[in-house]
Amino acid sequence: MTKRLAIFLDRDGVIIENRAGYVRAWDDVAFLPGALAALAAVATGPWAVIVVTNQSAVGRGLLDLAAAEAINVRLVATIRAAGGRVDAVYLCPHTDADGCDCRKPAPGLLARAAAEYALDLGRSLLVGDALSDIAAARAAGVGAAILVRTGRGRDQEQLPAAAAMQPLWVVESLADALAAWAMPEHGAMPERGAMPERGTMQAKVEIP
Ligand SMILES: [Zn+2]
Repeated sequence: MTKRLAIFLDRDGVIIENRAGYVRAWDDVAFLPGALAALAAVATGPWAVIVVTNQSAVGRGLLDLAAAEAINVRLVATIRAAGGRVDAVYLCPHTDADGCDCRKPAPGLLARAAAEYALDLGRSLLVGDALSDIAAARAAGVGAAILVRTGRGRDQEQLPAAAAMQPLWVVESLADALAAWAMPEHGAMPERGAMPERGTMQAKVEIP
C-alpha cells in the first residue's frame, strides 16, 4: 500500500492568530491574512491535511476538552466553507508538567497521525510558528519543516535555540510555505474531485 503524504499544520500562529490568554472561545479565533486561501489552494492535492496543536489551556483548566474540540470543529467547517480541507485535528491537552509524549516538541501527535492515516512522514511537510513545531517534525522524521514568521515565528527565529537548529527553512506565511513545498516537488494539483471526501473532521484527543 502506498503511503500518503501529509501537510501538518500548527494552528495558533499559522492558521489563526495567537492569543496571549489562549484561544478559549470562537470569539478568540481570527484567521491570519491569506490563510484560508492558502488552504483552499492545496485542498485537492493527494496529501492529507492534518492540524497538530498544543492546547495546554485545557490542562490548565481554562477551557474543557469539549470546548476545545468545538472550536476545532468550527475551524474546520470554516476552512471547508472557504474551499479548503482538513482531514483531522490532533490536539494535545496537556501541560509541560504532565510529561506526555504528545505535547510538541514531542513527536507523539505526528506519530499517531502517521499510524492512523498510513502516512509517509519522510515525504511530508510540517508548517509551524515555533521551534517546538520544527523539533517535533524532526523527532518524528517529517521530511520538511518550515517556520513561518506569523504568530510567534518572527521572535522564535531570533532565539539562540534557532541557531542550533540550522538549517532552518523560514518563510513569511502559510501561503508561502505551502507554495514553496507543494509546487516544485509535487507537481501540478490534481483536478478538484480527485480526492475522496473524508467526511467529518475526526478530533483526536487524549483524556487529560
Ligand atoms: Zn500531550
